[in-house]
Amino acid sequence: MPQEAAVTDVIIIGAGPVGLFAVFECGMLGMRCRVIDVLEAAGGQCLALYPEKPIYDIPGIPRILAGELIERLLAQIAPFRPVFHLGERAEGFARAADGRLAVTTSKGTAIAARALIVAAGVGAFGPNRPPLPGIEAFEETSVFYLVRRREDLRGRRVVIAGGGDSAVDWALSLAEVAARVMVVHRRLKFRAAPESAERLRRLAEEGAIELVIPYQLHAIEGAEGRLSAVIVRTLEGAERRLEADVLLPFFGLSMQLGPIAEWGLNLERNHVAVDPGTCATSLAGVFAIGDIAAYPGKLKLILTGFAEAATAAHAIHPLVFPGEALHFEYSTTTGVKGFA
Ligand SMILES: Cc1cc2nc3c(=O)[nH]c(=O)nc-3n(C[C@H](O)[C@H](O)[C@H](O)COP(=O)(O)OP(=O)(O)OC[C@H]3O[C@@H](n4cnc5c(N)ncnc54)[C@H](O)[C@@H]3O)c2cc1C
Repeated sequence: MPQEAAVTDVIIIGAGPVGLFAVFECGMLGMRCRVIDVLEAAGGQCLALYPEKPIYDIPGIPRILAGELIERLLAQIAPFRPVFHLGERAEGFARAADGRLAVTTSKGTAIAARALIVAAGVGAFGPNRPPLPGIEAFEETSVFYLVRRREDLRGRRVVIAGGGDSAVDWALSLAEVAARVMVVHRRLKFRAAPESAERLRRLAEEGAIELVIPYQLHAIEGAEGRLSAVIVRTLEGAERRLEADVLLPFFGLSMQLGPIAEWGLNLERNHVAVDPGTCATSLAGVFAIGDIAAYPGKLKLILTGFAEAATAAHAIHPLVFPGEALHFEYSTTTGVKGFA
């Protein structure tokens, strides 16, 4: 175990909905958690891919925006005071002589615990960057690969690049608040859901959105991280200069299991095989839940992951509190105590 490792009861890799709910389930059993996520904000796919889409299959909640579900999960786990390590990728894994597990991150953080829950979804997210020289200098000021709140783009001139669902859905949504929305796509046809592509075409006819097709991103102009224009070109070399404040390249997110794949876990096509009765993996003390966990009949749904979080927490309890009996109790009996 690294000398300077922070010690906790359970390390959770992934702050998606399932990783967050695991904090709750562990907390209810008196276990403290540290949560690592490569993204700068908690929320996993819900926040990165569809924060303003409604979800209809969370039990007891007829309709909730994905972003709001994350806010509510964060409120629900707050009493357990989880420590978040955001913007850090879990990379190293080791086992100390005393049986503790240690995880190290891309920022050099080391955390040791009795158990590890891998709730890494489909892997660490990373945007597919367009190959534009100097784009890094504009990232997070004028160039964004995900939109957290559409209100942040109110009154701005926005160039959206891409032809899939994200590009089209955000064009439709931002047309209601942005000063100008320009959609750059290299083909005449969009790959998005036909109904959305049709709405896009109608809004373009009405002048609410400008379709810049078939063009590709060529360069960006601006200074000190502030964008002033996006240069686009056709394959034949015809060029246009689009004056803009914000560029949203939506070329998909690449998701890679990355270093976790090297830890010796039993993998099945990029997923971690678990025993569904405990969510235990092939490595002692390591559990997997949510989208990343695989077993026969697995459904990749948030509610499935929530149940797996409860299963894993109960299986982990004897590792954190050896010799202590765990009496199954309902939350109606215990209430939510949290940590001081
Ligand atoms: C458009 C869309 C709509 C959907 N609608 C529904 C729906 O209506 N109902 C439903 O139940 N499900 C829906 N889903 C699926 C649902 O979002 C997933 O089942 C859910 O997000 C899985 O949660 P998770 O916590 O397991 O993983 P994720 O949400 O994928 O979160 C995993 C997190 O782990 C992080 N991570 C991975 N590897 C590392 C690493 N090495 N280091 C640090 N961090 C790492 C990632 O950055 C990510 O934040 C939808 C999905 C999409 C894309």
